[in-house]
Amino acid sequence: MVDHRVFNFAPGPATLPEEVLKQAADEMLNWQGLGMGVMEVSHRGKAFMACYEEAVADLRELMNIPETYAVLFLQGGAIGENAAIPMNLMPLAKNGPKADFVVTGIWTEKSVKEAAKYGQVNIAASSAADGFNSIPDQKDWQLSEDAAYVHICSNETVGGVEFQYVPKVSKPLVADVSSNILSRVWDINDFGVLFGGAQKNIGPAGLSIVIVRKELLGHAMPITPIVWDWTKQSESDSMLNTPPTYGIYLAGLVFKWLKRQGGVAAMEKQNIAKSNLLYNYIDQSSLFTSKVHAACRSRMNVTFFLKDETLNDAFVEGAAKLGLVNIKGHKSVGGMRASIYNAMPMKGVEALVAYMKEFERGC
Ligand SMILES: *Cc1c(COP(=O)(O)O)cnc(C)c1O
Repeated sequence: MVDHRVFNFAPGPATLPEEVLKQAADEMLNWQGLGMGVMEVSHRGKAFMACYEEAVADLRELMNIPETYAVLFLQGGAIGENAAIPMNLMPLAKNGPKADFVVTGIWTEKSVKEAAKYGQVNIAASSAADGFNSIPDQKDWQLSEDAAYVHICSNETVGGVEFQYVPKVSKPLVADVSSNILSRVWDINDFGVLFGGAQKNIGPAGLSIVIVRKELLGHAMPITPIVWDWTKQSESDSMLNTPPTYGIYLAGLVFKWLKRQGGVAAMEKQNIAKSNLLYNYIDQSSLFTSKVHAACRSRMNVTFFLKDETLNDAFVEGAAKLGLVNIKGHKSVGGMRASIYNAMPMKGVEALVAYMKEFERGC
């Protein structure tokens, strides 16, 4: 039992800005002088509609999302969208439903499996043979001529592999941005669709965000569940049914917090500094090592290993004693993973590196 906040390196649900949690706590029982909390008000009422509209406007401002794109606040997570994407977009293919995939880890593997239920999937490239420690060189991608879109995962949360550029392709680019949305500056025009769950870098689980070029709407398969029909959701301001109101409210508070921090460009600078601190230490260490190719190391999920794996448990336990929690790697990868999203302060990363140094000295 601890009586203070720890540095939580969990991959998701993940740490949230303390300021945001405090404000949410203050407003829990009485929001905007209504004598009720956000969770208790109508999603169609004036107060919540304003909260929703402000959240959308702030996200548009933060990511510089043009009016030619719809912003949807949905449910079902990124996994739900893995089904929604083919149902909404595959009919755009000219010779029957089809899409291209660049497989860089377990999240794109899952996307492929789900999409295959709705049409033909073409694996344009895969880094499986490399243990998902790299991103296949774009010049080697075998894109098909008749695919509706090209699906990538901008940041593989489990393996710790991140695209450091946005690929330019002739088809709409669909990107799973669950774990690096708002962490770096993108030109939205380079994407057809950006989608992700909120619980990594935005807010609580239960909210998923879809940003889709409006031009791509209007082609959903007739079997598409209405809650995942982007066209219908876009026509009804994501309120075709009751949206995840508390998640939207909290995401809105995080967007305000991001604006106070200086926006996405300022976060990107900070994320570069935080991840460099960790990788630079790992690279010169004789105990710790990283398997991910230097050119595609994730700034959000830093995966690393102890060269002597028998020390893993002692390392994790020692960290927890110092309030550095959830640094164990995903079971499919092993080793360690420090997830250092926007809300993880530099102080947390400094504390982790100081502990790693101390641990290494003791070995
Ligand atoms: C966490 C994660 C998912 C799964 O999202 P859910 O919201 O649990 O459906 C999918 N893709 C990536 C990249 C993730 O990090």
